Amino acid sequence: MSDSTQALLIQNGRIIDPSQKMDLQADVLIREGQIAAVGANLASPQTQRLDASGCIVAPGFIDLHAHLREPGREHAETIESGGRAAAAGGFTSVLAMPNTRPVNDNAAVTHFIIQKARQQSPVNVFPVGAISEASRGDRLAAIGEMREAGIVAISDDGMPVMNSSLMRRAMSYASGFGLTVIDHCEDLDLSAGGLMHEGYTAVRYGLAGISAASEAVMVARNILLGAETGARFHVAHLSTAASLEIVREAKRRGLPVTCEVTPHHFTLIDEDVKDYDANYKMKPPLRSRQDREALLEGLADGTVDAIATDHAPHAGSEKMQEFELAPFGIIGFETALALAFEQLVHSGRISLTRLVELFSVNPARIAGLDRGTLKVGAAADITIFNPERRWNYDVNQSQSRSRNTPFHGRSFRGGPVATIAAGKIVWQVESNPSAAHE
Ligand SMILES: [Zn+2]
Ligand SMILES: [Zn+2]
Repeated sequence: MSDSTQALLIQNGRIIDPSQKMDLQADVLIREGQIAAVGANLASPQTQRLDASGCIVAPGFIDLHAHLREPGREHAETIESGGRAAAAGGFTSVLAMPNTRPVNDNAAVTHFIIQKARQQSPVNVFPVGAISEASRGDRLAAIGEMREAGIVAISDDGMPVMNSSLMRRAMSYASGFGLTVIDHCEDLDLSAGGLMHEGYTAVRYGLAGISAASEAVMVARNILLGAETGARFHVAHLSTAASLEIVREAKRRGLPVTCEVTPHHFTLIDEDVKDYDANYKMKPPLRSRQDREALLEGLADGTVDAIATDHAPHAGSEKMQEFELAPFGIIGFETALALAFEQLVHSGRISLTRLVELFSVNPARIAGLDRGTLKVGAAADITIFNPERRWNYDVNQSQSRSRNTPFHGRSFRGGPVATIAAGKIVWQVESNPSAAHE
């Protein structure tokens, strides 16, 4: 690992930076944690070098949606282990959801997360504050003081706000503070008792269903409240064709709404749920084939703004239970980019430029972060990835403390090669075939 004060020269890569409409073969020079220059044949004596031949050099990836489990559930993940897993997935920044124990609903918890991340996480961690006290949905959390302490958005992810009046007040506050409101859109009355997507497969398994409308009605509600309050509303892990159509129409009208989609929702469908394996149990659930098709179209046509993982670690003992009893959620940092290559890039649906928008430029804009760019003077957060790297995902080698994934053993083409946060190489793949030929 290099010192952040030392210079680093990334050579021979293809720079793709949609924030500057840049796509060219060039070098990147980093000094004191910032981008110092981008250009051809940059020379800098006594500088650490990184060969990026055959690779894309992009603004650092930002995950808008992750659960790092600290404080309170360190057996499943910590800020350190989660940060290392994020780095191994090519992410230089993650937004940490507030459903920790205690919930991040006040400045003390926010400070704790920021301090801990500074000391122990290799990547930037931006806390998301709760909307309501303990995310219980009755009274607003201390949004102003958390804003002072450093939160970048508010959300009651996992415990969605059912009370529309409370959500309206939260949006009014958020609008005043310039914070984005991220909502896990789920009408808890409609989804009550549900374990997987409502459809033929759920009937076959004898499991209670979660309807598509249970998500879409809350997407619509929040868009209407956002229009009234002027708040920026961001849909977390959007999963259905119906929700996407509502977002598409709202955008057409110029309303302040954005949305993210997870790799598991654009890769798997309800029919993939196997043998009551809880590694296929998440919220929102894996949806129908038509829903996935709609998400893929939305990712291609620009309706979807970002890819976010919803990295949700659960310890083996929790997840290795009957499907009905196991908690919802899967880990996702280390497979996100490879799944995007599989479903979106190699399938010809999107360009590499669009891929970088989805992983970096747009997430930065949504969270109001001064990142997602390789402009000179910007923080040197950089993701280097290789579209042709072939590798197998072995979850037992994961940097995460948890193992809950449906993608163990999957073969991939394309993946991260090196992750640079604040000018430091925080992760590097053990063997990068195309660079090794140099
Ligand atoms: Zn959620
Ligand atoms: Zn979540």
